[in-house]
Amino acid sequence: MNVPLLDLKIQYKDILDEIREEIEKVFISNRYILGPQVKEFEEMAAKYCQCNHAIGCASGTDALVLALKALDIKENDEIITTTFTFFATAGSISRVGAKPVFVDIKEDTFNIDPEKIKKAITPKTKAIIAVHLFGQPAEMDKIMAIAHEHDLKVIEDNAQGIGAKFDGKIAGTIGDIGTLSFFPSKNLGAMGDAGMCLTNDDDLAARLYQLRVHGENPQYFHKWVGLNSRLDTIQAAVLKVKLPHLDNWSEARRKNAQYYYKHLNDVKQIKLPVINSKVISIYNQFTLIVENRDGLLEYLRKNNIGCAVYYPKPLHIQDCFSKLGYKKGDMPVAEQISQKVISIPIFSEITKEQQDYVIEKIREFYL
Ligand SMILES: *Cc1c(COP(=O)(O)O)cnc(C)c1O
Repeated sequence: MNVPLLDLKIQYKDILDEIREEIEKVFISNRYILGPQVKEFEEMAAKYCQCNHAIGCASGTDALVLALKALDIKENDEIITTTFTFFATAGSISRVGAKPVFVDIKEDTFNIDPEKIKKAITPKTKAIIAVHLFGQPAEMDKIMAIAHEHDLKVIEDNAQGIGAKFDGKIAGTIGDIGTLSFFPSKNLGAMGDAGMCLTNDDDLAARLYQLRVHGENPQYFHKWVGLNSRLDTIQAAVLKVKLPHLDNWSEARRKNAQYYYKHLNDVKQIKLPVINSKVISIYNQFTLIVENRDGLLEYLRKNNIGCAVYYPKPLHIQDCFSKLGYKKGDMPVAEQISQKVISIPIFSEITKEQQDYVIEKIREFYL
């Protein structure tokens, strides 16, 4: 049997006709840049996320850069974030000239440790970027309390958590700005790159709309230096068709997660992901902490099971950040976890037979 880590072909089979129709409308209209589908999708996304504004842009990475610029983050500002995340979270901080300040994570949820945020705050700290890793929101109650106390802005990097909830609130709408990615492997994936900023603040929304078109308003008059980062109209057309299915897809992932919990629960060499009781996760990844990780990785791949390591090296010890002065041992939890994590297939359309096969091979390896 063959079980890929993610199989998008099945998902597209059901909606391909509808997608074709929507894309054809774009071709016929000739309105390729910020065509009507962009606004339509932005309105749908704002409604889905229960927030006032959803501003489309070219990628989840650009969404972070736009968010930082909208909050007026500049050179020498310090931005606190987790060391255990996809590179873009911190890369975007450097891109606006600011300094990433890394914080270690909690071992059970993989998310940033609020206690350690407090210790990282200095007079130069301007904002916190919380990441909702693998589809599980970070502890936003504690993070918002810290931000209020120290007068800091909060960006939620919600690239992996669209539709997830913390305390009943939709992830990405709790801080000042939330960002989304529609990279194909996220729960809501486009057919290329695409991203979005969410905010309830009218002024921030107005800035974000301008920043994605070179900071212009009106046309050819520039108050600040922005980006060329629009949500492509064809991608908006695809996303419009896909969004109404998202809740079903995420629910299927939660069911698949329950199946793994039930059938891997007794394997002592495995720690299953812990979900905070205040949270509804969308399981963008199902990530285990295991003994002999590299052995398991090789064994599963040999048996045609797709799996991956998210992430093999925390950001504070990446070469490109060596100037920041961190060294090995500074973030012990993330450093150890990165040697022990493995993500296994959890996509919505995985069959029971495929999941049974994954379970069987993992059990075979350890028992
Ligand atoms: C995917 C991802 C991004 C970047 O999104 P792109 O659309 O690929 O630019 C940023 N942060 C996190 C946590 C991600 O997983």
